[in-house]
Amino acid sequence: MQQTRTASVTPAPGSPSESFTPFEAVNYQFDLAADLLELSDAMRVALKTPYREVMIEIPLICDSGDLRTFRGYRVQHNLARGPMKGGLRYHPDVDLDEARALASLMTWKTAVVDLPYGGAKGGIDCDPRSPSLSQRDLENITRTFVERLQVFIGPNQDIPAPDLNTNAQVMAWIVDEYSKFHGFTPGVVTGKPIALGGSEGRESATGRGVALISSLAARDHGVKLEGARVAIQGFGNVGSWSARFLAEMGARVVAVSDVEGAVHSGSGLDLAAVSDAVATSGSVVGTDGVERISNADLLALDVDVLVPAALGHVIHGGNARDVRARLIVEGANAPVTPVADEILAERSIPVVPDILANAGGVTVSYFEWVQNLQQFRWSADRVDQELTATLERAYRTVREVSEAKRVSMRTAAFILAIRRVATATELRGFRSGRTPM
Ligand code: NAD
Repeated sequence: MQQTRTASVTPAPGSPSESFTPFEAVNYQFDLAADLLELSDAMRVALKTPYREVMIEIPLICDSGDLRTFRGYRVQHNLARGPMKGGLRYHPDVDLDEARALASLMTWKTAVVDLPYGGAKGGIDCDPRSPSLSQRDLENITRTFVERLQVFIGPNQDIPAPDLNTNAQVMAWIVDEYSKFHGFTPGVVTGKPIALGGSEGRESATGRGVALISSLAARDHGVKLEGARVAIQGFGNVGSWSARFLAEMGARVVAVSDVEGAVHSGSGLDLAAVSDAVATSGSVVGTDGVERISNADLLALDVDVLVPAALGHVIHGGNARDVRARLIVEGANAPVTPVADEILAERSIPVVPDILANAGGVTVSYFEWVQNLQQFRWSADRVDQELTATLERAYRTVREVSEAKRVSMRTAAFILAIRRVATATELRGFRSGRTPM
């Protein structure tokens, strides 16, 4: 078969490399599973290649008086199983390759938990934490992005959600801007404020899922969660809710961090005090009476469970041998590089992959979308019950594949996901030579 654009979808064969781009790293993981499935070359290319990539220039005269141009991206990776779904990230490092990587991870994540969705992801290369960007600037950036993206998104097409540095307020602006073109459409995004069609339980969903999956994995790997020492990198949406739910389950959260640094207490942190410090000083490092350590120190702590819940590729070839955790649960997307994955496997440190561990967020996003389409509200109890049932089923199925094929949880999750997406692709007419439209 002649291929014209193989560079972006074909990682270097053989061993993993630290020079993989984020998208190459995901595709390396894809290929490990595709090899075991003996997937055809044609299907591999079809499943790895993004469906559509949109890049948007966003010029803005900021409140500071400066004229700046930001760049926004939306990569729509795959729609074989349903409308595309995935977050929007605001961060200076956002670029097309990262968006491709995260969009493809969404395709595999929605398939692992068996939601009727494909995958997408996007972002804008702005820094909401920067003092040079006002709240009004952020709103204007968001609105221009949506004005130019609106033809490509929608409840039956592509449904964004919060991610790094975006939140319910950003989603509310998106609903408002999109609705100017299409009529009131709360289902265009998830992660909205409850007052605007958001779902009970969405804000805490990813952390709730991380805690639940941690408890299942801990049990399977002989780690007693009651009293287990847990370190969490990142104390934003995912990190802080993971900490709270893990503590409720009896774990001892001994360290948490954010972009400013980390705090540690061997006897367990007072999470309410950490949250107060974040509210008053803006960072966990403002917490009184605890030891200050670095983010690098946190990753190397002697703990039972390590939850990276901030950025990608933080555990890599250079520090994977320093990890002393007994179990890693990926709260963030792609926090472990393929090289680190191999080192951790050699050292018998199990890793519960992102596409399973942090799928609680997209699962409750799905419930939110369902509620919007039905114009009906679910109770918080119903959301929690359905979330628990969905994640337990996904965990059990991944674990069964992992045991049957004697592969890592990550490869097992990819096997499950690729099988589901490939089946949908074939049913929709791949054999006739076209991928789903
Ligand atoms: P967030 O913006 O709410 O929080 C991010 C946290 O990471 C903050 O505490 C921030 O200070 C910290 N951080 C940023 N840079 C850091 C650095 N260099 N070192 C250490 N900490 C740093 O974002 P979030 O929504 O919690 O997302 C965190 C991760 O989880 C991302 O990888 C995201 O893609 C993933 N994720 C989020 C969701 C969701 O529902 N929000 C769902 C699935 C996966």
